[in-house]
Amino acid sequence: MNEKATYIVMLGPPGAGKGTQAKIIAEELGLVHVSTGDLFRENLSNETELGKLAASFMTKGELVPDDVTIAMVEERLGREDCQKGAVLDGFPRTPAQAEALAALLERFGGQVDLVPFIKVPNETLIERLSGRWMSKSGRVYHALYNPPKVRWIDDVDGTELYQREDDKPETVAHRIDVYYEQTSPLIEYYLSDGILVEIDGTQEIDKVTEDILKVAKA
Ligand code: ADP
Ligand code: AMP
Repeated sequence: MNEKATYIVMLGPPGAGKGTQAKIIAEELGLVHVSTGDLFRENLSNETELGKLAASFMTKGELVPDDVTIAMVEERLGREDCQKGAVLDGFPRTPAQAEALAALLERFGGQVDLVPFIKVPNETLIERLSGRWMSKSGRVYHALYNPPKVRWIDDVDGTELYQREDDKPETVAHRIDVYYEQTSPLIEYYLSDGILVEIDGTQEIDKVTEDILKVAKA
């Protein structure tokens, strides 16, 4: 008999720690980490049409249009490796995306099971994003809070780390506004479904993981 798939949606503002936690939690629960930001960046570095389109919104800190984003997620979640489920990071970001996700998962015979909402105040977000360093493959570091073993080199594959174009202070401020305008309504949406759990994202990375795993395994 097929076990029911598990879908976890990481919710929170840019810099809250969604990617950091999604990676650890997916590994711990045997699920796939699906980050729409990583998928767009991958398309951008492969110079696909989707990448070029996405870049025109990403550099301004705007959201990529719903139809394009939803189609990309549908394709990704339909792949073989997502059969047991996924930890979604950066999706959904609008009510229309949340509705599309619900409809898609229903087709798969599943649903969103848990929404850890990682709460972090704005001052902390700016500090986190200005110190964020990334590997090409999407591993996330921080200059102070989660530094690589060797300065600006990925611990795992030894490639050079980079800072995201959209982590510049001007763009970050706009991304946070966009989050409050377009994404924060999802807090109410998932609260009313009874699946949202607030997590204190100001704690150290390990402690945040512990709190999420506690509810995910409950
Ligand atoms: P998001 O995916 O929500 O935008 P990230 O996971 O990329 O956020 O984290 C943003 C930055 O903050 C990264 O540099 C990451 O290393 C750092 N970070 C994540 N969680 C914590 C934490 N609990 N304490 C301190 N820094 C953190
Ligand atoms: P992230 O890596 O999650 O911070 O996303 C980086 C950028 O990619 C965002 O600022 C958006 O431009 C775009 N993006 C990622 N996920 C979505 C989404 N679900 N809907 C629309 N745009 C997105």
